[in-house]
Amino acid sequence: MTLPTCEQALASAREGSPFSNGTEGYAWMENNCERCVHDAATRRDDWANGCPLILVALLGKTPAEWLRKDHAHMGDQYTCIYFRDEDDGGPGEPTPIPDPPGQEGLFPRDEFERPCLMFADTAPRLAERETAGAL
Ligand code: SF4
Repeated sequence: MTLPTCEQALASAREGSPFSNGTEGYAWMENNCERCVHDAATRRDDWANGCPLILVALLGKTPAEWLRKDHAHMGDQYTCIYFRDEDDGGPGEPTPIPDPPGQEGLFPRDEFERPCLMFADTAPRLAERETAGAL
């Protein structure tokens, strides 16, 4: 699953900042980007390979890849379709699942396939583990 380039993300972004103020932005990024594999490079001070969607947000536009949630609260305003926890190994099978070898599909799949698939957030968050007494 490949992220769009910064130019592609800027071209498809919605006008307007995604957050009302810095506190909202930092809260959301702490819950998402700071544990996402796509911005892991910046946590190792490799700033040239950070997530382009964050750059779009910092430029005052809302990435199309961020889906606004209804009745959202601080730090949970959007679902990023590219989010993937750094510790999440993924579903363990190629996506989309290929047709079985030697068999033809009943109909073309191209028009039904999305450019990316959301990974389920399966890795428990640190706070949830602490609440459960696991740490
Ligand atoms: S892919 Fe989404 S959640 Fe991950 S770092 Fe980029 S903007 Fe944040």
